[in-house]
Amino acid sequence: MPRAADNPPAIVLGGGIAGLAAARLLTRHYARVVVLERDTRPDAAEPESAFGAWQRRGVPQFRHSHAFLARLRLVLLAHLPEVLDRLRALGVRELGLAQLAPPGVTLAPEDGDDEVVLLACRRATFEWALRECVRGRPGVELREGVSVAGLSVAARDGRRPSVTGVRLTDGSVMRAALVVDATGRRSRAPAWLGAIGAPLPRELCADTGTFYYTRFYRRRHGRAPRGTTGLVAGDLGWVKVAIFPGDNASFSISVGAPVDDGSLRGLSEPARFEAFVRAFPAVAPWRARGVSVPIDGPPTPVLVMGNLRNRLRRFVDREGPLAAGFFAIGDAAYHSNPVYGRGATSAIVQAALLDEALGRHPGDVRAAGTAGRSARSHP
Ligand SMILES: Cc1cc2nc3c(=O)[nH]c(=O)nc-3n(C[C@H](O)[C@H](O)[C@H](O)COP(=O)(O)OP(=O)(O)OC[C@H]3O[C@@H](n4cnc5c(N)ncnc54)[C@H](O)[C@@H]3O)c2cc1C
Repeated sequence: MPRAADNPPAIVLGGGIAGLAAARLLTRHYARVVVLERDTRPDAAEPESAFGAWQRRGVPQFRHSHAFLARLRLVLLAHLPEVLDRLRALGVRELGLAQLAPPGVTLAPEDGDDEVVLLACRRATFEWALRECVRGRPGVELREGVSVAGLSVAARDGRRPSVTGVRLTDGSVMRAALVVDATGRRSRAPAWLGAIGAPLPRELCADTGTFYYTRFYRRRHGRAPRGTTGLVAGDLGWVKVAIFPGDNASFSISVGAPVDDGSLRGLSEPARFEAFVRAFPAVAPWRARGVSVPIDGPPTPVLVMGNLRNRLRRFVDREGPLAAGFFAIGDAAYHSNPVYGRGATSAIVQAALLDEALGRHPGDVRAAGTAGRSARSHP
């Protein structure tokens, strides 16, 4: 049951995919939830404006391709159905196995096939829909343009610290019933925990050795080109090439290329990118004359992202949470090579796990922190 309104709120740091989903689910446990997001996103009447206008300095991958995997859709159905409803109302397509099979391949039906359904939309559209569902929801306050600088703690009693609030970059402190770090892959959680005397999280980290290139397009007519399927994904060993179907007749082409292959560095130049991707027989029909145009015309950039790592941080050990009342979810806790398209799904699943852990241990953030490590009962 939500607690009395004069208690401190649950505070979510970061209003990206994990933070927004967590904020919505935290309303089941707290009367007030505050999201603190550093970027300012002007309210947009529809997602096309968000794609064009939102400056997401905190999310450099905002205009890169995003696949939204079947498990993400199942968690939306179970926990955040209003988000899926909103995406459907926008015309976002749900691609089942039959639509994903390569041309000429017929898959024998199996139990559970109806659950293997991807969402075909842009990251901007997904984030817009999630934000619309959270914005203005009773009990949730979305504060944008606010930057978090650290954690605050009550007096220590010789044990591990308990987080009781957050410090903002303007020097102010906000009290919190619980703090959720959803600040993404550049989370400063280890430094923040170190500063309050908590043990540092154990970390596994490996460079992906990949540069990621993306360009967006709009189809001029109808659906996917004749003789193609809704999705193209090819792993050629040295490079990976994929077409991501989007909403509103958009699609994107992404290339994952090894950082040490100097001959591919020039892919950020649109003419070279076009020549490269059109050389793939599965991609060429999408860029054939009359089929599609770059989404913002010829100046549409090829976006490049590097410094891509796989990283897992553990915030709970045998003794329990490193700091009671502090939870890390989404990319702040775990992120992997983007070419496998798991991050948004993982972020949503972790928000659902947090919800589940808090539901099992109402009012006991230490127990919830420990339980969140092993909870597994969501879809
Ligand atoms: C190139 C690329 C391609 C990708 N493709 C896919 C894909 O196909 N499918 C997929 O599922 N995933 C993909 N991902 C991963 C996906 O983008 C992330 O997993 C997802 O965004 C994680 O959500 P999050 O909420 O944890 O973090 P983010 O979405 O990064 O949000 C973090 C938020 O925290 C805010 N913030 C940061 N610091 C502070 C602070 N100090 N104070 C306040 N706010 C702060 C940021 O502004 C941001 O809004 C890709 C990633 C990359 C890099």
